[in-house]
Amino acid sequence: MDNTKKPATIAAHAAGAIDAQSGGVVPALQPSTTYLRDADYALVRPDNIYSRADSDNLRQAEEVLRRLEGAEETLLFPSGMAAIAAVFRTLPNGGTAIVQSGIYWGTTAWIRDFCTRRDITLIEVEAEALATTCQSQAADLVFIETPSNPWLKTVDIRAIAAASNATLVVDATAATPILTRALDFGADIVMHSATKGINGHSDVLAGVLSTRAKDAPIWDMIRADRKMAGAILGPFEAWMLTRAMRTLPLRVERMSQNAQMLAEHLMAHSAVEGVFYPGLPSHAGHDIACQQMTGGFGSLLSVLVKGGREDALRVVGKLELFLRATSLGGVESLVEHRHTIEPHTGIPENLIRVSVGIEDIGDLIADWDQALG
Ligand code: PLP
Repeated sequence: MDNTKKPATIAAHAAGAIDAQSGGVVPALQPSTTYLRDADYALVRPDNIYSRADSDNLRQAEEVLRRLEGAEETLLFPSGMAAIAAVFRTLPNGGTAIVQSGIYWGTTAWIRDFCTRRDITLIEVEAEALATTCQSQAADLVFIETPSNPWLKTVDIRAIAAASNATLVVDATAATPILTRALDFGADIVMHSATKGINGHSDVLAGVLSTRAKDAPIWDMIRADRKMAGAILGPFEAWMLTRAMRTLPLRVERMSQNAQMLAEHLMAHSAVEGVFYPGLPSHAGHDIACQQMTGGFGSLLSVLVKGGREDALRVVGKLELFLRATSLGGVESLVEHRHTIEPHTGIPENLIRVSVGIEDIGDLIADWDQALG
């Protein structure tokens, strides 16, 4: 498939993956961990030796993502956290990392622990102060998340890239490569939890990194570390991911439309105190979102219901279509009371995080109306 194709075409065709051996229009699942050599001890396929290094199914999924991101190279990992860990493991002992505050709590918790053990100076900065800090503070790595989970803050990727000489890594999980191609805005590496919207069916755990420069020293380290340390996605998960990504642009479009309509509806509801969603003109990060998100504002939003913890939990308990479960980006709508998960991080007790799926929007709105009523 040539390089001129648009995301919907790349995704629907899985970047041209077929099964040449059978003639099947979808690629075969090849679960082998090891690969044959011939009688002269040459590998039958020089690119396949052992599945901790690579596999056909992995390459197929990576190629779809590489094209969607406009990247030079893409690497898949067994989870989003494994991808983030691969980035931070490149930091030298005694190095410095600037990390956005109020991002996915699992990321913050792991980075804090890792930096302490490695003697790395960790500077945590609110989204609004990131550009100023990056201008005045030298660092090896800057890590941002936009839109952020669960505050839905947006960060101007271009402004941060201009403010710092450090390697800029953007977690764009909530945007997916369909809405934001972070490399186009100056990120050096873009990261996603592919467990979320990219897979979109709540049945594969995966993470992905894509780079603008495959010869950059940091990327060489990440690539070598994945292979040697074995943090690689298995062929079955890669095959599932390739299958799921065929509908990624359609899913993202519908989820974004649904989320926008639900956000607008809830914003006007008398039992709601506020809604965090970058698609709302009243959202503080709306202008930045308009600059760097194309085709919608994603499936993630947070709702502040009037009242406190008990009121939020009562609403969550009454919802019928929105399943009470963690995670986001799946075709089925989910809700989570984040304060129960991270009571110590300043998340308001009346905040309900919502991942909007592809269901009928009338049904979704009716569910919230009955739960709030
Ligand atoms: N980044 C964001 C924004 C997330 O929401 C998550 C998970 O919720 C992660 C990273 C971690 O990804 P995973 O759960 O695939 O390890």
